[in-house]
Amino acid sequence: MTKHQPPVNKNETIHVTFEDITHDGAGVAKKNGYPLFVKGGLPGEAAEVKVVQVKKNYGFGRLMKINEESSERVEPPCPIFNRCGGCQLQHLSYEGQLAYKHKQVEETLSRIGGITDVPVHPTLGMNDPWRYRNKSQVPVGEQRGDLVAGFYAERSHQIVDMESCVIQHEDNDKVVQLVKKLAKQYGIRGYDDRIHKGTLRHVVVRHAKHTDELMVVLVTKGKELPNKKNLIEALQNELPNVKSIVQNINPKRTNVIFGDRTEVLWGEEVIHDFIGDIQFAISARSFYQVNPDQTKVLYDKALEYAQLTGKETVIDAYCGIGTISLFLAQKAKQVYGVEIVPEAVSDAKRNAKLNHIENADFVVGEAENIMPWWQAQGLHPDVIVVDPPRKGCDEKLLETMVNMKPDRIVYVSCNPATLARDLKYLAEHGFKTQEVQPVDMFPQTGHVECVSWLVKK
Ligand code: SAH
Repeated sequence: MTKHQPPVNKNETIHVTFEDITHDGAGVAKKNGYPLFVKGGLPGEAAEVKVVQVKKNYGFGRLMKINEESSERVEPPCPIFNRCGGCQLQHLSYEGQLAYKHKQVEETLSRIGGITDVPVHPTLGMNDPWRYRNKSQVPVGEQRGDLVAGFYAERSHQIVDMESCVIQHEDNDKVVQLVKKLAKQYGIRGYDDRIHKGTLRHVVVRHAKHTDELMVVLVTKGKELPNKKNLIEALQNELPNVKSIVQNINPKRTNVIFGDRTEVLWGEEVIHDFIGDIQFAISARSFYQVNPDQTKVLYDKALEYAQLTGKETVIDAYCGIGTISLFLAQKAKQVYGVEIVPEAVSDAKRNAKLNHIENADFVVGEAENIMPWWQAQGLHPDVIVVDPPRKGCDEKLLETMVNMKPDRIVYVSCNPATLARDLKYLAEHGFKTQEVQPVDMFPQTGHVECVSWLVKK
């Protein structure tokens, strides 16, 4: 065998011991240093694995038999856990999940960011890590002339019909089942993405935990929605807590869920929810954290790290509907928020009014362009909060942050890899990370959220 040849062959069955899990929940075993990724394997477990794919530097295997089970292994409560791509860690005890997420953050910070001297606290978890999601987005399709709505089978675009999701709020499940039933009854066809034909593409449901209000969004290919009136009436009759029924039109051949046009079919354009004492109006296309209990935990931590006394000027970049901004505004002199989605900024402004908060201003735009503009206007923030999407902060934004010389930065991140990259940049440019706090916003999945606290050196 030459040095570069992988030490396993396709279709061979080998005995391995798992050492780790990947960020998407696959077990990692090594054969002579060559990593094999195997869905379902847990660290410490000895198992028989069939090699199914061999690449130059790593391979994939299928779990055939577990010979020694991990004490952390539990029976996944969801019957479709193995086929649905939504959750990755239901087979790991909740304590095990929290420990794994903590380790993942520590290792990623060290590997990508070279950060080894910063305390990473134990993951803050939920008391009840089930049925926590307030938002459901379910693809609708047609199979053999029948409308189906559920989830995409792993690595495919085939929709598998689903009745219940154990991490969703019960009402979200109820709405999806009802829309499915009504669509069939009223002859509304599901959308077929292979031929770009049909009507109903997605059902998106949002439940507001603290007011119990529901929003139903029907995403359709065109404007036409057969029997619209009957459908709306039936939804109202069967779901007394529905406050908003909205149609979003997405005519494009795309995986992106929402199109540009949104029309209110019935009720309000928004639903309302509370985080702590602050009320929020949320419209169909605005980002709103999906785990209401843990959002409070996350924001409280961000507020603690911001160390506000009432005198500070604060920037909240990637502010969404102004959730963190308004939290901060209660304790700061002035808050400036920036966000790229115009509807979200309208929501943010409306939310400031709704709560009689007058020291928060919001701007639509790319944070990386608005921040330099603010700087040119002479804005000197004492604290900057950033909460970027998975790809992390744009380098231009990091550069501007550094130039603005705030006393503190609070970095909220949903991706440890880009967090590590950005903390490294900030460390090289005068900002030391003091603490990192992982928060479990997405139990049963491999995702982990972190709040980091940085100070000017
Ligand atoms: N802080 C908010 C939103 C965080 S999600 C909350 O906790 O609810 C990240 C947000 O960044 C989304 O609202 C997204 O629309 C926005 N966004 C993405 N790219 C952006 C950019 N380049 N500039 C400003 N906002 C952006």
